[in-house]
Amino acid sequence: MARYLGSSCRLCRREGTKLFLKGDRCFSEKCAIERRAYPPGQHGQGRTRFSDYGVQLREKQKVKRMYGLLEKQFRSTFKRASGMKGRAGENMLMLLERRLDNTVYRMGFATSRNEARQLIKHGHFQINGKKVMTPSILVKPGAKIGVRERSQKVARIVAALDALEGRSLPAWLEIEKERFEGTVKQMPVREDITLPIDEQLIVELYSR
Ligand code: SF4
Repeated sequence: MARYLGSSCRLCRREGTKLFLKGDRCFSEKCAIERRAYPPGQHGQGRTRFSDYGVQLREKQKVKRMYGLLEKQFRSTFKRASGMKGRAGENMLMLLERRLDNTVYRMGFATSRNEARQLIKHGHFQINGKKVMTPSILVKPGAKIGVRERSQKVARIVAALDALEGRSLPAWLEIEKERFEGTVKQMPVREDITLPIDEQLIVELYSR
């Protein structure tokens, strides 16, 4: 499948906000947004005015890049959310939050969603004792997500857990660090996403 192979920090600079794509670096002064808070490229420092469409498009790109999805995956997530009861925008965010790669990242087993995706694909995780290798699986309340016994010495996982102290855990998740296991306590709610996202703009974009 096609993947974006360019600079992650460039994506943050394009969207004008931190998307937290590079783990610990995002919390350090090396973060590109801290040093160059303007869009990349020759005209990056020029004046930028967006049309309504442009504003909606940027919001969609921001969320898509934050969760590391490609356009096709993102659009099908939106389509699924639209068919559910309630608000399409909010449903979409909840579906994104429930993805296994996001859950592994939120639990602190990885320092970024990209890293979580890679670790899952390498077979380091299990759900309710069963090995999983699909980052897009949606987790349900009661699910126990753990690092497989043979993977509990993987340096990247150990380092991510060590760094967990500085990060807050969302209310819908629980983690037992010593057991390399976390539990999904309940479905996530809109308030669990603290990053500035206006999902209504995405709904408007896809309703055009
Ligand atoms: Fe974005 Fe992280 Fe790069 Fe900062 S360090 S620009 S938050 S990816």
